[in-house]
Amino acid sequence: MSQKVRVRFAPSPTGPLHIGGVRTALFNYLFAKKHGGDFILRIEDTDQNRYVEGAEQYIIDALNWCGIPFDEGPGKDGGHGPYRQSERKHLYKQYAKELVKKGKAYYAFDTSEKLDFHRKDHETKGKTFIYNWHNRLKLDNSLSLMPEELEKRLASGEDYVIRFLTTPDEKLKLNDVIRGAIEIDTNVLDDKVLFKSDGMPTYHLANIVDDHLMQITHVIRGEEWLPSLALHQQLYDAFEWEAPEFAHLPLIMKPVGKGKLSKRDGEKGGFPIFPLSWNESIGYKESGYFPEAVVNFLAMLGWNPGTEQELFSLEELVKAFSLERVNKSGARFDPDKTKWYNQCYLQKKNNTVLADLFEQELIAKTAVRKDEFSIAYLEKVVSLIKERATFVSDFWELSDYFFLAPSSYNDKAVKKQWKEDTPEIMKGVVNVLEGISDFTSEKTELELKSWISQQELSFGRVMAPLRLVLVGDMKGPHVFDIMSMIGKEESIARINTALKRLPKE
Ligand code: GLU
Repeated sequence: MSQKVRVRFAPSPTGPLHIGGVRTALFNYLFAKKHGGDFILRIEDTDQNRYVEGAEQYIIDALNWCGIPFDEGPGKDGGHGPYRQSERKHLYKQYAKELVKKGKAYYAFDTSEKLDFHRKDHETKGKTFIYNWHNRLKLDNSLSLMPEELEKRLASGEDYVIRFLTTPDEKLKLNDVIRGAIEIDTNVLDDKVLFKSDGMPTYHLANIVDDHLMQITHVIRGEEWLPSLALHQQLYDAFEWEAPEFAHLPLIMKPVGKGKLSKRDGEKGGFPIFPLSWNESIGYKESGYFPEAVVNFLAMLGWNPGTEQELFSLEELVKAFSLERVNKSGARFDPDKTKWYNQCYLQKKNNTVLADLFEQELIAKTAVRKDEFSIAYLEKVVSLIKERATFVSDFWELSDYFFLAPSSYNDKAVKKQWKEDTPEIMKGVVNVLEGISDFTSEKTELELKSWISQQELSFGRVMAPLRLVLVGDMKGPHVFDIMSMIGKEESIARINTALKRLPKE
């Protein structure tokens, strides 16, 4: 590649960015960085009716959260701005007119009522109305009008659109990096509107003009844009511009069944569909996902490294990524796998970082006060329980007994573990614990184990009820670790409380 690689992510600000949109942005980012190129954000906001307030900022925030910032875009000029199509309005008309002059496009005056009439009329005959080579000369446009009549109507300020003049009877040869060669018969294409009567370009015209002016070398976008490729290629040819290379990414499919992943699938399956929260829809960020995990699972949706490796940092993805390894077929979305990725990244996180996050959770969501623990204590708690967690929000449930004495005991466990002789055994345990001055995990383990063998008791008869009274349940790490964390006094107090509260058989 001799030219500098320049790719763009070109969302329309019609709402929050779907996770599929983030994947498109990610693949553009990876490709750009792999080739030392630029990643550009262009906001395609020519359709004013679909404009949603706040959507642009959402897109920018989402990219930043994922750690895939753009090199050029709104607020970050790289010499090819402005990067919002609404601010480039003045540019497009001249290009539409240039095509008319070249005989590649034409003015059309057909009113929407007239077009509706044709559509309905065709429908009643079981046909579909398509504005194309077949009927364009019978419709109200500059191809069917006499030159003087055309001049008059243009001069009178009558509303018109500009349509692309598709050449009939041609076999268009298209290429897609992922799908290979594609051949399209131009007779199946319609004469798409390029410029609207409201003075705005359509997506097709603005997209091609901007890709050209912004010197885009590769267009990487979702498969839903594949049907537009024929028109786009023809537009490049009509302008006599060199076309970029195209790569259409496979769809992201529902977890089960046919069709692409939708917001409803997320609602049904209880998993996020947006990177960040949007109104009542909770995002990946707010659900406790790490951005690295989201980036990693998105990268694997439609791309594979060709090896067994599943965990990739962003840097590793940049190195490994290639469009040739992007699949043609749809990528099935697996919510369990997204959790698995988060769990892996959580295990890799430094305990200090996790302790900080846990502290925020504790203060926000529990009755535990900030002066009741130290960060060093949280770090130790985290190190003992994190292997069972997928999210930081799992920490509290896995570790509440490190902060509070149990308020109840699991019934089933009581039935199974609290035998007739258990109170006596627990009293013995209290005795042993009272005699230990150096209350470390190792020391208590040594002392208690030697007492157990002296008493000729089984280990389980002592340790299982001991866990139950310390934790309230049969969960948690090594009992001696728990005791050394909560301390001697608290350990003894919890045993004594249980001796009062639990039934004797
Ligand atoms: N504005 C289009 C979209 O919303 C861009 C498609 C393209 O990348 O060409 O996805």
